[in-house]
Amino acid sequence: QTVLVTGANGFVAGQIINLLLKKGYKVRGTVRSDRSINAAKESHKGYASQLSFAIVPDMTVIEAYKDAFQGVTAVFHTASPFVLAPKDNESELLKPAVAGVVSALEAAAQYGPNVKAFILMASFASILDLSKGYRPTYTYSEKDWNPISYEEAKVADGPTAYCASKAFAEKAGWEWMQTHKPNFTFSSICPPWVFGPNISPITNLNKLNESTHAIYTLIRGDKIPDADFCGFADVRDVAAAHVSLLEKESAQGERYIVGNHFDYQTAVDELVKEMPELEGRIPKGEPGAGLKEGVYYRIDGSKVVEALGLEYTPLGVTMRDTFKQLMEAEGKT
Ligand code: NDP
Repeated sequence: QTVLVTGANGFVAGQIINLLLKKGYKVRGTVRSDRSINAAKESHKGYASQLSFAIVPDMTVIEAYKDAFQGVTAVFHTASPFVLAPKDNESELLKPAVAGVVSALEAAAQYGPNVKAFILMASFASILDLSKGYRPTYTYSEKDWNPISYEEAKVADGPTAYCASKAFAEKAGWEWMQTHKPNFTFSSICPPWVFGPNISPITNLNKLNESTHAIYTLIRGDKIPDADFCGFADVRDVAAAHVSLLEKESAQGERYIVGNHFDYQTAVDELVKEMPELEGRIPKGEPGAGLKEGVYYRIDGSKVVEALGLEYTPLGVTMRDTFKQLMEAEGKT
């Protein structure tokens, strides 16, 4: 079985590919440039015979995938612009995110006669209603949709526009399926913040992906940041959810939240328990305050546990493994 993973050089894709390779799958990664191939190969040393790449310079062009689908039996579409401070919402986020999903689906239908499953790396961003704020007492689940309109998203702040891009892209995927009824299933994985280790050691702390950057800001901060996404998933759990879903056909065709409660205070509380040496380098805040009832919305991440038997990594372990790698990088830079 060969799984096509788009955006193969990304943070989340790195762990997904690692798990697929370990489990014996062949992987074809798509990237935008030669340079990304070299970096991705380096991350998966030892699996050269299972791993191949295709350069797709523009993922919004169906024909760009022409040579990528040979032998492919499943698609994990993870590539999507993840920028929280765009100069132009529409051209940098909304359009490429939507066209990226639709083109990958079209390409799978046209060039991938053996494709049986298409799994979209969506986001909790397509579930959350940002306009309702922390919405205490509300619990989000897979039945919720981010209700923002395209017109609102065009002029919204960066994080809101990013969330909208994920919602429009996922919606476009479900709509495409309704219209085209291809020979493969479509499923979406919707995690909030994804934290945890990068597949390779971090070499440049100034070029972190958005979620690792967000958590790393704790180190220099003088106070606990306000909650943004009140949820997180360990990147290894996100990878496990993708692969388990691929292996369980009866669970496909659905949306799955992968995630549990997160706020920066609780993250700090857990991190200091795991790595007491960080005390003094990160703000202490008010230990325990993050878990007070009635402050933040909650996230129901139980569907994926029931359907796929996913076992969530506790926040403390995710924080420890994230910060261990960040501290190693500090030592080197
Ligand atoms: P990264 O920034 O590490 O990876 C993003 C990947 O998408 C890279 O391979 C990047 O390629 C590719 N990409 C971005 N824009 C384009 C574009 N216009 N055309 C083609 N490829 C593009 O981010 P993550 O690994 O964190 O994110 C991966 C996916 O997971 C995204 O879909 C993101 O929305 C989603 N997600 C991430 C969460 C998180 O907290 N990290 C939470 C929930 C969802 P290049 O290197 O060439 O730019």
